[in-house]
Amino acid sequence: MELGNQILDILNDCESYFKQLKETERNQILIDFPAVSEQQQFEEIQVPNTQTNLQIEMPEKPSQSSVISDLSKYSTLSEFDNAINQCTKCVLCESRNKFVFGAGNPNADLMLVGEAPGADEDKNGVPFVGRSGKLLDKILAAIDISREDVFIANILKCRPPENRDPLASEVDKCEPYLKRQIELINPKVILALGRIAGQTLLRTKDSLTKLRQKEHNYHGKILMVTYHPAALLRNPNWKRPTWEDVQKVKKIYEGLK
Ligand code: SF4
Repeated sequence: MELGNQILDILNDCESYFKQLKETERNQILIDFPAVSEQQQFEEIQVPNTQTNLQIEMPEKPSQSSVISDLSKYSTLSEFDNAINQCTKCVLCESRNKFVFGAGNPNADLMLVGEAPGADEDKNGVPFVGRSGKLLDKILAAIDISREDVFIANILKCRPPENRDPLASEVDKCEPYLKRQIELINPKVILALGRIAGQTLLRTKDSLTKLRQKEHNYHGKILMVTYHPAALLRNPNWKRPTWEDVQKVKKIYEGLK
């Protein structure tokens, strides 16, 4: 009887256990994981550091100087002007008001080359305006040439502050523009106006007196040198030698026609 009661108790316990198991649906294995803190969760979803792990190569923006490095691709003066008139190759771009490309007949036989724009030119964007420009018109009229017949440009396209002499570094950067202008215009004669223009183009330190009245060679073109009109305004005694110079220029370029 004692054994029968014990078996009965065991059977009751088993029934109770299976009832409990059914109620709690513990028919699967449950494993307790340690709780994940908010900090851990945040660390798990952090985006990798893009500066160290992600490198995006952006295409390099072409610089102004590289854009205008191949000057031979410009076949007209207006196209060339458009290509270079925002030039920033030297420090003069920072102080200029207007870029002075040059003006005149694109097929001129005679080309005049000055040193750099002055205050009036910087203001107007046109070479040889103001008093010295008017005097230049008179010099040309003296040899029966009008401004419309010639092309006028400067070695530098931007004004040096206080009209100081061009620096060698500025000339190095800007002179290729003048050379391309000369190629496009293809004049028979070039007249350099002033000592600085003559010395710079001919890469010499010779005085103006020595440079005048001679035929020089500038990249295959005849180049003559005379006084700058602004110098004549300061010293009228130089008008006579200038007259002699331009007479000679007229003779050369008419003889080449
Ligand atoms: S002076 Fe010539 S090189 Fe210098 S910024 Fe002007 S155009 Fe460019």
